[in-house]
Amino acid sequence: RAKDQGRGTAVFFSQAIEHENRERMELEHALRNVLGSEQLFLEYQPKLSLRDGRVIGAEALLRWQHPTRGRIGPDRFIPIAEESRMIVPIGRWVVRSVCQQIREWRAAGMGGMQVAINLSGLQFKSETLLQDIVEALAENGLEASCLELELTESLTIENPEQTIELMKRFRAMGISIAIDDFGQGHSALAYLKRFPLNTLKIDRAFVRDLTTNPDDEAIVHMLVALAKTLNLSLVAEGVETVAQLQYLRDLDVDAIQGYWFSRPLLAADFGAFCRAHATRGVHLPWAPV
Ligand code: C2E
Ligand code: MG
Ligand code: MG
Ligand code: MG
Repeated sequence: RAKDQGRGTAVFFSQAIEHENRERMELEHALRNVLGSEQLFLEYQPKLSLRDGRVIGAEALLRWQHPTRGRIGPDRFIPIAEESRMIVPIGRWVVRSVCQQIREWRAAGMGGMQVAINLSGLQFKSETLLQDIVEALAENGLEASCLELELTESLTIENPEQTIELMKRFRAMGISIAIDDFGQGHSALAYLKRFPLNTLKIDRAFVRDLTTNPDDEAIVHMLVALAKTLNLSLVAEGVETVAQLQYLRDLDVDAIQGYWFSRPLLAADFGAFCRAHATRGVHLPWAPV
């Protein structure tokens, strides 16, 4: 009996794996034709200064609206795009779209906005990234300081020397660099010191239970101390509650992203959000009314 059950489970798993493989292949195929279609677009999540509630910029987040499957999340399709190297042309499209968007916002009177772009390791290693960014900035008449690049820790371990060199070139241009999802990976702290960084972004996994879980609390305290020692600015992502907000403010975190004040928004809605909060910023609970 137990044996039969075991066999049943094995069959179930092999069917599940087969299903997964088929779906991946289908998505990979669909991704090849997605560039230049309306299926791919960006949302922008505001970043808020905890000092005064001002919107200081946004993070561009890639969206895929599949014609029959509906929304497919980036956590699902970006690994597939990486495997097929489609992430390189897709990433180039992201860079251009973001630069065009910043130009449009400026034309509409929204200046001083810094937009962060997520880069996968493959993109960062691609020969053309620097050139693509230089061109996109020039075509839209933008200075480099309106862009920030978000890189993950994995990049920093694989090829530190080359990574440092490229980072330095971006920094010399005036582009900011952030380490994303900090605490999730395992960057060697010794390297961290050598990376020309501006910002650490605390992974939302640590923010989620920050106010209830002593382990997460300890980790966040450690990350904050580290950022201070290295003189980096700190952004916390995934802030959903006032309790988290207060906690992060008491720790002197510089900026936040999260559903507490805004989900990622379509470009037009982001514009409206910024205009609505242009004069006084988003109201923070500790600020006088
Ligand atoms: P990420 O860069 O760490 O982005 C933050 C993720 O947290 C986003 O998920 C965002 O929608 C979500 N988020 C923000 N605030 C909250 C909150 O309060 N609660 C919760 N539960 N979630 C929140 P999203 O948009 O699904 O993106 C997932 C990941 O996909 C990103 O993580 C990033 O690593 C990757 N990604 C997105 N766009 C791009 C892109 O253009 N290029 C590359 N290479 N990767 C991208
Ligand atoms: Mg990010
Ligand atoms: Mg992140
Ligand atoms: Mg993440």
